[in-house]
Amino acid sequence: MALELVCPLEGCEATCSGETEDDILAQAEAHAADAHPDLTLDDDTVETLKAGIEEV
Ligand SMILES: [Zn+2]
Repeated sequence: MALELVCPLEGCEATCSGETEDDILAQAEAHAADAHPDLTLDDDTVETLKAGIEEV
């Protein structure tokens, strides 16, 4: 099973992929720190990210 998450932010088409939700979220955090330094990864944002994770 592989999971994929496309960055939900407007205008950003970065994709994270991994084996587990934790894996994806770790990548999403690294991506956010790199590409979206103004984004705060609060609980709501993490929920939004989780909701966007798809099996591929
Ligand atoms: Zn992004």
